[in-house]
Order: sequence, then structure tokens, then C-alpha cells
Amino acid sequence: GGRFTKPSQPAQKVTFDDVAGQDQAKREVAELVEFLRDTDRFQRLGAEVPHGVLLVGPPGTGKTLLAKALAGEADVPFFSTSGSEFIEIFVGVGAGRVRKMFEAARAAAPAVIFIDELDSIGRTRGTGLGGGHDEREQTLNQILAELDGFGGREAVVVLAATNRPDVLDPALLRPGRFDRHVTLELPDRAARRAILAIHAKRLPLTNEGDLDAIAAGTPGFSGADLKNLLNEAAIMAARRSGTGITRADLDEARDKVMMGTVRSLAIRP
Ligand code: ATP
Repeated sequence: GGRFTKPSQPAQKVTFDDVAGQDQAKREVAELVEFLRDTDRFQRLGAEVPHGVLLVGPPGTGKTLLAKALAGEADVPFFSTSGSEFIEIFVGVGAGRVRKMFEAARAAAPAVIFIDELDSIGRTRGTGLGGGHDEREQTLNQILAELDGFGGREAVVVLAATNRPDVLDPALLRPGRFDRHVTLELPDRAARRAILAIHAKRLPLTNEGDLDAIAAGTPGFSGADLKNLLNEAAIMAARRSGTGITRADLDEARDKVMMGTVRSLAIRP
């Protein structure tokens, strides 16, 4: 039961205003808000709205955030899981878990389902080196069956996130499945500034203008990296018992996050 059959709703509703930049992705997802809010209107006009949407983009660019914002904007329940959980936690029961989650979402419709790290279950079938492979295939097959089982009338939108669309089983991408793709990009300088502004809202910066310099000096940083940078800066200010976050704290935090990023890239398989 538990987490799968009950929607998780963030304490405070996430909206599109919480997502900085990503204008194109937001526009595309916004179309689904209307569908979830007024399914009948679409049905009356015979419009078929996509059920499966693939969010494609590097780690930390806001895929999960955007999925939550869709549910928040439409004011519908949000069911979520991560592909890696099926490999690490739900060993032997993956297909059943998928079935239960879709069942619960259908019963709660209109609703949003979010599957993070789709590639960990959705890799091309029959390419593993044996061992535990059938299990993953069964889970994947169950996802395909659930997607195929949606009639035109069901107001359930399934968003799935991946940073490796190239390894996905082509069966997932067929018409009626994840046939619509929304791309999220690493933020440019203006978007980095906007992301910093969102996450610095409640932080005591000694000079708000410092964020311009930080935005300029963080090419390649994701939204998650920037959020992390601000948190590191706050920790540094607290450690030296400062009364506010200074430019020096921010610079030091940037260097720290940058080194962390480099390290995590280096150990990536
Ligand atoms: P992953 O692929 O690693 O799961 P993701 O693309 O799903 O990453 P999120 O988990 O949504 O990324 O992002 C992590 C956190 O970084 C978010 O909770 C949010 O606080 C912040 N963040 C990322 N992108 C943005 C953005 N565009 N605007 C505001 N905050 C962002």
C-alpha cells in the first residue's frame, strides 16, 4: 500500500512560478493543465490529449519540479516513483507496484503520475548480461500495458524523466506511449540569475547584487547546483557566525560546488 497508492502532495503547492527559465518546457506542459482541469471539454470536441510525456534533460534541471508544478497548477493529486526504486527496493514485485500505482491514479483522476529515472527500468530489452533481467522486463512491460490501457476518457497524465533518452527501449516511444518529448536545458546566465533569486528569497544576503556576479560565474551549473550553492553559502556564513551571506561566502560555495560537480562527473560510468 503506502506511498504508492496515496498521492504525495508537497506541503506547499508547486506552481510554474517556482520553475525559473525553461520557458519552452513550461509552455508545453501548460497545455496539459487545461486538459486536466477540463477533460470534458476536450472529450466533447473529440480531441485526443497525450497521456505520456517524456521530460528529457540533464540532472538537476527541474524535471521533477516541473512535474510537480503541473499537478499544482491543475490542482490534482501527484503520484510519483523512481525507476531506480524498482531495481533496488521493489525486487520481485515491480510489475505489481506499477499496476497498483496506475490503479490508484485512475481512481483519483484527474491525476498526474511521475516516473523519475525511467531509463533504469526502460532500457532496451534483451541487452543485459543476464541476472535479474526478466524482472525489469516485467516491470517495463507493465508500464507499456498501463499506457496502452488508457482510453481517450481517462484524465491521467504520465510524465517520465530521463537524462538518457538514447538508451530507452523504442517500445516506450511508440505512438500512444511516451510519444511527446519536452526538453529541459541547463540554464543560461539569465535563467541562473532567476533560479538564484527564487532560492535566495528567504536568505539574508548582504548584497542582492552579488547574485548577478554568481550567475555570470556559474556556466554549466544546473538549478540543483545553484540551490546547493546558496545552501553551502548559508552554512559558511553560519560557521563564521556572520549576520548575513557575503560575496566571499558565495564565491567559496561556488568553488566547493564546482569541485563537487567535477568529482561526480569523474566517477560517472
Ligand atoms: P534529476 O534528473 O537529478 O532527478 P531533476 O531534473 O528532476 O533532476 P529537480 O529534482 O527538479 O531536477 O531539481 C532539484 C532541485 O533544484 C529542485 O527541487 C529545485 O529546488 C532546484 N531547481 C532545479 N531546476 C530549477 C529551476 N529551473 N527553477 C528553480 N529551481 C530549480
